[in-house]
Amino acid sequence: MTSLDQALAFTIPARHARGRLVRLGPALDAVLAAHKYSPAIERVLAEALVLAALLGSTLKDAGGQLTLQAQTEGGVVDLLVCDYRGGVLRGYLRHDSEKLAALPADPLLVDLFGTGYLAVTFDQAATGERYQGIVPLDGASLAEAAQSYFAQSEQIPSLARIGVHRTPAGMVAGGLMLQHLPEGEEGRERIHTRLDHPEWAHVAALGGSATADELADPALPLETMLWRLFNEDEVRVLPTTALAHGCRCDPAHVAGVIARFPPDEQAAMAGPDGLIGVDCEFCARHYTVEPARAAAPFTSN
Ligand SMILES: [Zn+2]
Repeated sequence: MTSLDQALAFTIPARHARGRLVRLGPALDAVLAAHKYSPAIERVLAEALVLAALLGSTLKDAGGQLTLQAQTEGGVVDLLVCDYRGGVLRGYLRHDSEKLAALPADPLLVDLFGTGYLAVTFDQAATGERYQGIVPLDGASLAEAAQSYFAQSEQIPSLARIGVHRTPAGMVAGGLMLQHLPEGEEGRERIHTRLDHPEWAHVAALGGSATADELADPALPLETMLWRLFNEDEVRVLPTTALAHGCRCDPAHVAGVIARFPPDEQAAMAGPDGLIGVDCEFCARHYTVEPARAAAPFTSN
């Protein structure tokens, strides 16, 4: 199971293509373990986390963050958020269990998200720059939505494939993303955005042959998969990025948020034990905060 929780970046210089292969195992299980999700919800959250890893691992700025957020109306999923920073992933999904129960076991993306949009946000830590693109969630899968994102927001021909597989040892999910950067990715204007460019047609045909089973096969090393797909071309492999689950919630931050409320509102938030309980939606960690005491009323004697 050495291929798990890794991102492998590569380039195919002669075709002006770059790509990533990602495979998640224990990190995915750790995200899913925070909540009791049904299988259809686990699958869509697994796909979103793979997508976050594929997109996040393109950040050159190690402190930069990638956030995926679905904004939806009329579907089963009310909110889906995943983020990536420095190889660390987290995510959660809020949904209506009753509506989900009324759907088939393998629901369509449109049934889950209704009228939905996927917001992709890149925050660069070094420069403080933020870039956001929004695409409709109207494809057959989150991978298709990612392709639309790159075609519409960034004008880059892209291919994305994601596979999710439940093994006796846990969930395994993998993904491939390929992009064509004919004018070079550094600096120069990308003026030749063409889906029919022969270089892109060649690379996309090879990448498109990746199956969901291969992508999510824990016994298939990412390098072996890469070689199987692109052995006709010279592929340059960049150092592997280790992926992990992690949450950035911390007690000081939670206490700081509570402290902004006036003492009487804090008192109203407290439970029977006199403490304010706060759950992190990402990791389900439970925090307790002691409410601030109201200033003692002025008394004279
Ligand atoms: Zn947390």
